Amino acid sequence: MTDRRPALFFDPLMLEHNTGPGHPERPARLQAISDLLQGNFADLRWESAAPATRDDLIRVHDSHHVDHILGLSGQNALLDPDTVLSPRSVDAALLAAGLSKAAVHRAYSQKRSTFALVRPPGHHAEAKKAMGFCIFNNVAIAAAYALAELGISRVLVVDWDVHHGNGTQHIFYDRRDVLFFSTHQSPLYPGTGDADETGRAHGAGYTINVPLPAGAGDDALLEAFHTILLPAAAEYEPQLVLVSAGFDAHRLDPIGGMTVTTEGFAALTEVVAHIAHRYAEDRLALILEGGYDLQGLSQSVLSCVQALSSPAPPNIDPA
Ligand SMILES: [Zn+2]
Repeated sequence: MTDRRPALFFDPLMLEHNTGPGHPERPARLQAISDLLQGNFADLRWESAAPATRDDLIRVHDSHHVDHILGLSGQNALLDPDTVLSPRSVDAALLAAGLSKAAVHRAYSQKRSTFALVRPPGHHAEAKKAMGFCIFNNVAIAAAYALAELGISRVLVVDWDVHHGNGTQHIFYDRRDVLFFSTHQSPLYPGTGDADETGRAHGAGYTINVPLPAGAGDDALLEAFHTILLPAAAEYEPQLVLVSAGFDAHRLDPIGGMTVTTEGFAALTEVVAHIAHRYAEDRLALILEGGYDLQGLSQSVLSCVQALSSPAPPNIDPA
């Protein structure tokens, strides 16, 4: 049997991004994931990669904003009320973006799935603004890298974090080379992501938001994936599929109010794997976003890795 286990990108340097006592986006999140995966796979191998370069960042972020943040390397700083820099945070953020880019390169070159287990997360970071625990927008940097360097011309970004991926939407809002699909709890931080936010100019119709009420769970998410995402993917025919894989929609999460189960995340993973198999030669990269209950987070990541490791993706027909 072929081992289809995703290539896993991780580096302990990201544990040195110290957000301070009581902050939910804490090093223990990645530690819990690392411990659980190592306990489940005896032959587990982590892959690291080079940090993102300034050129990688300025494909999606304003250059003055990037230089301001790079200038804070080695210092403590507060970028917004929730978004903290410790002396190693800029290094960790550059590495998180670099591992996301490497996960995309591997998915592209080997036609397989990959998972970048990174922090700080990225999907709230806008072109000129760090916010919501996010410094640089990892998934946007990875998508822009694929578009600029790998000859890819259509990227699907699926964002199942409980929060709207305002940064990713903002960065690609007037472009059609990225189709952005987001499910999220509404109302909730950051307050964007209404269904009528659908893109602008060349990007009109290439942003799809599915706001869901608190309490929504596996059934609501899977219905949105089957009835909205699958037909949109069939029309778009992405050449690469990226996932902003946050796990704060898990029923145990202390920040989110949704009720997705560990098995639910596996089912969502099967849908995106199906899309990648059908249209994108299995080129699929998951990039970690939120998820603040250590058990819910780590078990859900394991469940996604197991779903991606199954010998053949199930055949799912567009509804
Ligand atoms: Zn989130």
